[in-house]
Amino acid sequence: MTDDINDIIILGSGCAGLTAAIYSARAGLRPLVLEGGRPGGQLVSTSDVENFPGFPDGIDGFTLVENMRRQAEKFGSRFDGASVESVLLDGEVKTLRSAAKTLRTRALIIATGASPRLLGIPGEGDFFGGNGVSTCATCDGAFFRGAEIAVVGGGDSACEEALFLTRFASRVHLIHRRSAFRASDIMAKRVAEHPKISPVLDTTPVAVLGGADGKVRALAVRNVKSGEEREIALQGVFVAIGHEPNTKVFAGKLPLDAQGYILPHPQSGLPHTGVEGVFAAGDCADPVYQQAISAAGSGCRAAIAAERWLEEHGR
Ligand code: NAP
Repeated sequence: MTDDINDIIILGSGCAGLTAAIYSARAGLRPLVLEGGRPGGQLVSTSDVENFPGFPDGIDGFTLVENMRRQAEKFGSRFDGASVESVLLDGEVKTLRSAAKTLRTRALIIATGASPRLLGIPGEGDFFGGNGVSTCATCDGAFFRGAEIAVVGGGDSACEEALFLTRFASRVHLIHRRSAFRASDIMAKRVAEHPKISPVLDTTPVAVLGGADGKVRALAVRNVKSGEEREIALQGVFVAIGHEPNTKVFAGKLPLDAQGYILPHPQSGLPHTGVEGVFAAGDCADPVYQQAISAAGSGCRAAIAAERWLEEHGR
């Protein structure tokens, strides 16, 4: 770091950002990690991580990410709670602005992750956050003890949420718009065999319905084959239909694909982006794999690429 210009700023403090921090801190670059609006990223709301190598008995997501943060701090990473609102990526020094401050850096690693997608149906927004609609089973599941609930989605996230919610709910309706789950075999099998989970296939939600008490009372659904509509009486709806990359701040500043994922540099490939000195890691640049371990691996690559880039540019 010279004056107020950082060598490396890392945006995001999930698996990718923290791994990048561990590597660049060990390279002596004293990275500054801007933790953003959701410190720790998606892992902090993941109950059991069973597929991160090195943990044969699984580990809860919060502990895993907390360990990574301590490891990054131990080697000299610095942390700041700022959320970046605008960026200037042209030129040798990049400028990042949050509500409270302006920061400058030579190399930038973007690891801003992805956020849960919503259904966009009537009622969803009205009951979101405390009144019956949620995107986080580990955060809100305990509020639905003994209740009947629905999980919407057919991927690994939906199956994982449904299985976790059986700890509290009396019944979990797992609503998917196709006739088969897209989740991995092991997850789909666990769901199919669970006595508290009722798969509702070929079905899509059309509205979240509330009662006089301002809480969810039912989910209106439509069978996509027959067109028949009906209501499922329940108290909670958990939406688990994938994620959107957190890259809005980079629109027009970096090449993004149609969904907003950061595109690789045409020649060097990821972690290089289309802008010199700017690197990307984790789910914000990965529409395909989106795993904790692949995010961590890409964070490692981004840190090494950034370190080499700084060396080549006289740092
Ligand atoms: P995903 O695999 O993209 O699945 C999203 C699901 O939501 C799909 O079944 C999709 O239906 C459905 N969907 C999307 N938009 C919808 C809409 N508007 N209305 C109704 N349904 C809608 O996303 P994910 O489950 O979050 O998983 C993302 C990645 O993370 C995957 O690679 C997954 O393997 C991984 N992951 C792994 C674990 C684990 O290993 N334990 C846990 C969680 C996630 P269609 O099938 O019709 O497209």
